[in-house]
Amino acid sequence: MTLAKVVSTKYNKTIEKCSNEEIYFALLEMTKQMAEDKVSNEGKKKLYYISAEFLIGKLLSNNLINLGIYDSVKSELEASGKSLAEIEEIEMEPSLGNGGLGRLAACFVDSIATLGLNGDGVGLNYHFGLFKQVFDHNLQKETPNPWITDNSWLTKTDITYPVQFGGFTVQSRLYDIDVVGYNNRTTKLRLFDIESVDENIVGDTIDFNKDEIEKNLTLFLYPDDSDDKGRLLRVYQQYFMVSNAARLILDEAVAKGSNLHDLADYATVQINDTHPSMVIPELIRLLQERGILMDEAIEIVSKVCAYTNHTILAEALEKWPIHFLDKAVPQLMPIIRELDNRVRGKVSDESTYIIKDGLVHMAHMDIHYGYSVNGVAYLHTEILKNSELNNFYKLYPEKFNNKTNGITFRRWLMSCNPELSAMITELIGEGWKKDANELEKLGNYINDDAVLDRLLAVKAGKKTDLKNYLKKTQGMDIDENSIFDIQVKRLHEYKRQQMNALYVIHKYFEIKEGKKPATPITVFFGAKAAPAYIIAKDIIHLILCLQQIINNDPEVSPYLKVFMVENYNVTLAEKMIPACDISEQISLASKEASGTGNMKFMLNGAVTLGTMDGANVEIAELVGDDNIYTFGEDSQTVIDRYARGDYKSKTYYDANENLKRAVDFIVSDTVKAVGCSENLERLYHELLNKDWFMTFPDFDAYVETREKAYTAYTDRKAWAKKMLVNISKAGFFSSDRTIEQYNKEIWKL
Ligand SMILES: *Cc1c(COP(=O)(O)O)cnc(C)c1O
Repeated sequence: MTLAKVVSTKYNKTIEKCSNEEIYFALLEMTKQMAEDKVSNEGKKKLYYISAEFLIGKLLSNNLINLGIYDSVKSELEASGKSLAEIEEIEMEPSLGNGGLGRLAACFVDSIATLGLNGDGVGLNYHFGLFKQVFDHNLQKETPNPWITDNSWLTKTDITYPVQFGGFTVQSRLYDIDVVGYNNRTTKLRLFDIESVDENIVGDTIDFNKDEIEKNLTLFLYPDDSDDKGRLLRVYQQYFMVSNAARLILDEAVAKGSNLHDLADYATVQINDTHPSMVIPELIRLLQERGILMDEAIEIVSKVCAYTNHTILAEALEKWPIHFLDKAVPQLMPIIRELDNRVRGKVSDESTYIIKDGLVHMAHMDIHYGYSVNGVAYLHTEILKNSELNNFYKLYPEKFNNKTNGITFRRWLMSCNPELSAMITELIGEGWKKDANELEKLGNYINDDAVLDRLLAVKAGKKTDLKNYLKKTQGMDIDENSIFDIQVKRLHEYKRQQMNALYVIHKYFEIKEGKKPATPITVFFGAKAAPAYIIAKDIIHLILCLQQIINNDPEVSPYLKVFMVENYNVTLAEKMIPACDISEQISLASKEASGTGNMKFMLNGAVTLGTMDGANVEIAELVGDDNIYTFGEDSQTVIDRYARGDYKSKTYYDANENLKRAVDFIVSDTVKAVGCSENLERLYHELLNKDWFMTFPDFDAYVETREKAYTAYTDRKAWAKKMLVNISKAGFFSSDRTIEQYNKEIWKL
């Protein structure tokens, strides 16, 4: 099928005569048809990867690559004077996720399809996604982010279920998105929606009437949870997701010949974080409805469900008040009570009970009634076993296992960095695209000056691309010859964007004093803050104020500039990551479960500046000390300090002139002149009196290590070697490897 033919049938004209929009919709139709024609993965047993988030990003380029027609379509377009890059701009990015967790789920379905495994992603079809971030007077504002057009990647199915809530019933509708594996087969992303959803109750903001569940259920991902109504809506969403998923699972198993007693031979469920946990009682309830007794239903479900833990932050482990569940899903509470009673009957350790103090602990239910519990990086799993979930580990050591996260190299190298991909293929052949470990062969070129020069040239090209893109889309003036130092990820205090901002202030003072960096530095930030997370929004405010002050200061801006990109999303990640020199991965040790941004940067030849946290530990081990910049207190020191509870940030502030100067600047007249006193004062006091994520103890080490990296950057050849080592060692972080491990050790498809 050529594009010319599709266009001629659809519009009765040539490609030249079509608008970019017309071409986009023709390509959409064409790739959808080609995906439909592919064989879908099959098998007796099927995986259901249930996740509240799938941060899939735009699909056109990725699908063209995976269908093996990217190059031919690109040249066909070029021959008609059209640019694929411009056509890609037409596609809207669905913001069906927050960050890493949702992006992981998207990488996983890509790898499941590519490896030919029989498994689908199951989630919800949010009409306005998370939110679109806009900056206004140096503050984050949230607006709806609609993405569903008349023609889209969604295919409406005829699958629909009545879903019962306390007092009313809604009718669901399943939409599918075909997930195209690389040169291989397809699987599906199955997104449930309700027929009665009403987009018209949303205006210019993300506020809406939270009472009308029939109208609002699938409007937003994680509606504002700062009040009870928002939190209750989440319970409705979660139950809606898993009730549909559970019915789909049972129907598909029965259709393949299951008598439901043998469900575990037909289905396995991966519970991605606690959001889908209610699938456990819901499956039990549905099995009972179909005539299976409680004892056996529990036993069956316990062989079907597996749980992935994504965080040790206590506030992120969901606990729902009983009265929420009683109101939204009264049919589940008796089952949850029964599950809790059975735990109480056999386990003496009260800390593991499911219901405590009027709260239902979702993770506890998952661990008692799932057959596998996995963490997402070596260090994270060790912390789960030895501290956070130690009481559970003692009960069920055999359930605990590690699956270090990964990323799909199709999107995060082939699609976002075709220049680097082509160079790699020229050097070591095509094999790495199917077997990422083959990237190791790049190590043979470590002393090849021509290769090192080319690597630097590819990076320089991507930096220029980013400069041009951000000039066009966000009006930024970037020096492409500066060091690109990038921290992009959700805004959270544990990720410590505030520590990066303190460094920026420190550097600003140094330049003012005449200590100019050898190479100019551009510091990039990109981050959305949860709408109700006040301090996170204050940190964004500070960064935007610094951007305004520093970039307009003629003394400083030739050497240092700061840019916070608006609405950081997958599309921006795909432009920024290939252009990065230094990848900031500076979370407080023990707090970042894995990180996947760190892997994407490494794969694209950035050098990590990071703490020994999450998967950084594994990156450091793979690349060796010469090819990563690590600093800061280790996880055990941090865990011990929390246990002692004696951290006083003020002590560090009083003892450290540079730190004091940087912190005080937050509330200086200079910053207040461009910002809001209230926000700045609040952030200042938060740091001085709390600094819960301990930026002050790591500040000096951070500054020192960052300077070391900047100095190393000036030796271009030595730096290129570091880049090459990072790329060559990235193979371990392919999500194909991760998914193979899930399958071999958990799902056994
Ligand atoms: C990979 C990715 C993330 C996760 O980044 P971390 O640094 O691991 O937190 C978040 N958002 C987007 C858009 C991503 O692509």
